[in-house]
Amino acid sequence: MSKKLLLKHAHVEGIHTFDVYRKHGGYESVEKALKMAPDAITEEVKASGLRGRGGAGFPTGLKWSFLAKPEGVPRYLVVNADESEPGTFKDRYLMEFIPHLLIEGMIVSSYALGANTSYIYIRGEYSWIPDILEKAIDEAKAAGFLGQNIQGTGYNLEIYVHRGAGAYICGEETALLESLEGKRGNPRLKPPFPAVKGLWACPTVVNNVETIAAVVPVINLGGAEYAKIGVGKSTGTKLISACGNINKPGVYEIDMTITVEEFIYSDEYCGGIPNGKRLKACIPGGSSVPIVPANLLLRTINGEPRYMNYESLADGGFATGTMMGSGGFIVLDEDQSVVKHTMTLSHFYAHESCGQCTPCREGTPWMFKILKKIASGQGTLNDIDLLWDVQRKIEGNTICPLGDAAAWPVAAAIRHFRDEFEWYIDNPDALTGNYGIGNYD
Ligand code: NAD
Ligand code: SF4
Repeated sequence: MSKKLLLKHAHVEGIHTFDVYRKHGGYESVEKALKMAPDAITEEVKASGLRGRGGAGFPTGLKWSFLAKPEGVPRYLVVNADESEPGTFKDRYLMEFIPHLLIEGMIVSSYALGANTSYIYIRGEYSWIPDILEKAIDEAKAAGFLGQNIQGTGYNLEIYVHRGAGAYICGEETALLESLEGKRGNPRLKPPFPAVKGLWACPTVVNNVETIAAVVPVINLGGAEYAKIGVGKSTGTKLISACGNINKPGVYEIDMTITVEEFIYSDEYCGGIPNGKRLKACIPGGSSVPIVPANLLLRTINGEPRYMNYESLADGGFATGTMMGSGGFIVLDEDQSVVKHTMTLSHFYAHESCGQCTPCREGTPWMFKILKKIASGQGTLNDIDLLWDVQRKIEGNTICPLGDAAAWPVAAAIRHFRDEFEWYIDNPDALTGNYGIGNYD
């Protein structure tokens, strides 16, 4: 059984309230941290090996150490709660059921970074969660853990919840900052990174909800102890939101030592595939990461079991591996069409492109059109080559990762399931009705 650090008390009745949360050890990391020098906290986070849980897996302590500290200039912590990656819903679970864990992590992190104002930028569709967070903030304030002179230490912190308006691109950190500043959420060119020039051109750390929540066990256990959980550079625990063709969809906390096979088939996690169907493929890290067929999902090309961690999932590069990403684990059984699935994703990216870069603005709807043509039995073999060519021209040629995120699923689908694309071309008469395509126009 995986060790639980974040969801340990998730099922305790009333854990969303300050009193119950505090009775279960809540805010002890704040008491501990406020007795430490801020830089010592960053050192603990570095020692823990904690990696960003939003998708990129960037080392959190390293990111914090990049924060510029010019005299007299405010610094900010911004929590990215714009969780919009298809298949990803673990941050929602944390915020909805254990809101104080995020607030506690924010206090420790803000103190370490020297921030006196911090923000939670939450996706507009999570419309009921800001109230939960604001209640938790009020309770923490009433108990002396937020506001002026926290716990008599002279440290001041205010946390504000900012509601997004429902654009996927606002989860990209610089688009998020633009939006928080009241502008259209267009990604900025990096560098400069937010750590140097972020919110209102001030040094800013942008971290995912789960990353900041994980700072709580890092401080409670100490960085070195935290680093003992997991394996290699995949330390600590990771939340996985599992969905698709599985018996038990939901949010699971794993310690990154379990195999993919165990995660899919064990009753502790996904509980296998309904109706005895066979596993066809999986997208283990949210829609932006490459799809992998069953044979490469359960084993690497060397025949080693594939594990649920950053290194093992990526083993073999994009040719045979994939990515941990945001931990949005989407399972497809043998009845699912990879062509239609890829088409649906392409429609999503085309819709969410902000339009700043030509390859993304023009390429994403073009990929969707080709996929729709193939899926409706109108495609030719040349269309598969054209699709490959279009995605190649997007990847690496755009301002932000949305372009790559749109290209990779298409590339992986063609790479691993070309025969299925060809089947749609060779068997147009076998397709009936609207081919499950729906109305995308
Ligand atoms: P990234 O690799 O560009 O950056 C990771 C983080 O490290 C950023 O905060 C960046 O500012 C920081 N960083 C990197 N190099 C730095 C340097 N030299 N100095 C200072 N800071 C530096 O990736 P990203 O754009 O943050 O994230 C991309 C990932 O987001 C994708 O892989 C995808 O999995 C994920 N994603 C998640 C969601 C979601 O809902 N959780 C949605 C879309 C995409
Ligand atoms: Fe906008 Fe797409 Fe360019 Fe990102 S890659 S900045 S979403 S056009």
